[in-house]
Amino acid sequence: MVEAHVHGVGNALAAGWRVLERGGSALDAVEEAVVIMEDDETFDAGRGSFLNRDGKVQLDALIMDGATLRAGGVGCVERLRNPVRAARKILSESPHIYFVGEGAEKFAAQHGIALCRNEDLIIPREVERLREYQAKIPTLRQAQGELSGAKNAPEMGHPTGSELFAGADDDPTTSVDTVGAVALDRDGNIAAATSTGGTLNKAPGRLGDSSLIGCGCYADNVSAAASTTGWGEPIMKLVLAKWTVDRIAAGNLPEWAAQEAMNYLKQRVSGHGGIIVLSPEGHFGIAHNTPRMAWAYRTVKQQESGVERDKP
Ligand code: ASP
Repeated sequence: MVEAHVHGVGNALAAGWRVLERGGSALDAVEEAVVIMEDDETFDAGRGSFLNRDGKVQLDALIMDGATLRAGGVGCVERLRNPVRAARKILSESPHIYFVGEGAEKFAAQHGIALCRNEDLIIPREVERLREYQAKIPTLRQAQGELSGAKNAPEMGHPTGSELFAGADDDPTTSVDTVGAVALDRDGNIAAATSTGGTLNKAPGRLGDSSLIGCGCYADNVSAAASTTGWGEPIMKLVLAKWTVDRIAAGNLPEWAAQEAMNYLKQRVSGHGGIIVLSPEGHFGIAHNTPRMAWAYRTVKQQESGVERDKP
């Protein structure tokens, strides 16, 4: 799994870099990088995503342009291989910013994006993962009910952030893999994109942080570009991507802001996740308070990747 993740983020980095190298925009670079990871079954985005409670893939994505503050988002789409492509079309060709469900799919189809079947996005690994997870629900429900005394709450049996994202689950194949990219181009513009299949066994129609402006993704040339991953509900409560770029607008370095965002997430709402942040000056931060988060970066001077990021 570690090798597949490092390989996957490396491929995404190469795709984004190719765009930047030939003078392309940061917006194009993050789109291309995210497409590569959506197509890679290693990650929880595009084909190979986690399944929801009904055994379907439901995808969310957002892309944002720091130069214009234009954004495009899709939520709960079931028939798009590359939701970030549809998000980009919304950004470029619609007066609206956000489409969900069938309306988003219709918009995509009308703008030249082929629709697929939901089954085309489902892989056997995820069918098995959901089956195993759902088989454990009665035990989880009992444990949670005993702790809270609320035995019949419908959300009982849903994994909590501390179980999945904190790595308390001892299953080494458990990983939670929203994808994201941030980029700075030759014109000094920054952009960000995030794409996800959301969380395992989520309720149909549940939307996480990833595709919400300021939560899972944000970009503004006057502050920074950011993309987050992690348990969506706590991240949404803090509007974490915007919180982080605001720290940079106030004069802090992205490296510090990224780490502070993780501290804030943990302290304020017991959340777990990760973040990548990039300023228009080319300073960047990568931080996570999960056991691991695959990351990769390239600058004109150097290139690095890994699955753990040391605290500054
Ligand atoms: N943030 C995503 C969500 O809650 C999940 C993830 O980042 O892995 O939908």
